Amino acid sequence: MAAPPRKRIAVLGSLNMDLVPYVPHHPLPGETLTSSRFGTAPGGKGANQAAAVGRLSRSPDALADGDVDVAMLGAVGSDPYADVLRSSLASCGVATDGLRVLDGQRTGIAIIIVDEPSGQNRIILSPEANHALVPADFAALPDPRPDLLIMQLEIRLDTVLQALAAAKAASVPVLLNPAPAQTLPLDAYVGLAHLILNETEAAILAGCPESDLDDEPGLQRVASLFLERGVANVVVTLGGRGVYYATKAGKSALVPAHKVDVVETTAAGDTFVGSYALAAVHASPDDFDIDGAVKAANRAAAITVSRRGSQLSIPWKDELE
Ligand code: ADP
Repeated sequence: MAAPPRKRIAVLGSLNMDLVPYVPHHPLPGETLTSSRFGTAPGGKGANQAAAVGRLSRSPDALADGDVDVAMLGAVGSDPYADVLRSSLASCGVATDGLRVLDGQRTGIAIIIVDEPSGQNRIILSPEANHALVPADFAALPDPRPDLLIMQLEIRLDTVLQALAAAKAASVPVLLNPAPAQTLPLDAYVGLAHLILNETEAAILAGCPESDLDDEPGLQRVASLFLERGVANVVVTLGGRGVYYATKAGKSALVPAHKVDVVETTAAGDTFVGSYALAAVHASPDDFDIDGAVKAANRAAAITVSRRGSQLSIPWKDELE
């Protein structure tokens, strides 16, 4: 008997080149600073989440043999950064033929200034080609139709909302990671299969102070609000505290984070989303084991925070055991 076709995940979102100067302190107005070192890395929440799905579902020496097919939908410019980002995704097993290359435009850039003594970041995002994706591009979802569509909010909000509507019309479940947080129209939540957000995003979207998420009853109240708006599965990631989830079917739990030596937390949330998506795409809405999905994602993200780097610190499938 022929094997069933592999499930397909599409990620619609941003691709950025991260430019990272490390400085002794953040520059003051008018000050010129010399960085102690400088790094570049492929990034963008969209690309990182596609890379996470790719790496967590396959081995680096058998890229074509992943547990799922994963495709990146997005836009890059016609500069050398575009090639770096495309080949980084390809090296993670992600299909890049859905990437639009925009002549005469620049690829998205994130300038991440790291204050070395404190480790604190200040980030300047320049969306460039990412913002050239317009709603008319997603009047319908591109073929082949995915079994799960993942989106974030680093591309234009009107484009995300149009893709949500197109997914709904095609009965394709959506996992939305509303980062960076922006207020969404209430009908965006209706029928949303998965909402994964961190504490800051949850507080902004719920319209409450972050301190409301300090204890389990508070988390339960905030998650209920998203369930009432029409989301089926709500997952709030809590950094070193772990994760809280609640579902419209009535399941909920606070899952503590794994204890690890934290080296760099970049891409932790993206790893979490990628791992959770792999569990979600294989389940039907009625038999989704959200507890198993959250625990696996919590474990995968803990590996990412124990390593230096962003996209390329995400573990491969065989590193998860
Ligand atoms: P984001 O990076 O989107 O802000 P979080 O900081 O909430 O997201 O982290 C996402 C997930 O990564 C957490 O839910 C947890 O599973 C894992 N994680 C983050 N920080 C730590 C940590 N210090 N120790 C262990 N796991 C962590």
